[in-house]
Amino acid sequence: MLNYTVTDDKYNERMDICNGCEHLSETIKMCDKCNCIMPVKAKFAHFYCPINKWGRDTTKLIVRSD
Ligand code: SF4
Repeated sequence: MLNYTVTDDKYNERMDICNGCEHLSETIKMCDKCNCIMPVKAKFAHFYCPINKWGRDTTKLIVRSD
């Protein structure tokens, strides 16, 4: 079964970056660049930071051939 969520290590790596970022609200953990709640967004492999501080987790993605 394919798992679209990232590993705990990858999640923690992403959240460490977001928690040190000037665009993250400390109270509700919302990013003012993408308006996402980062503890949720950081769980999913296909999401990425809008200003390239972290990228997609391509190890968890399906590449379409069409
Ligand atoms: S997604 Fe990017 S811009 Fe938004 S809080 Fe995280 S590191 Fe900052």
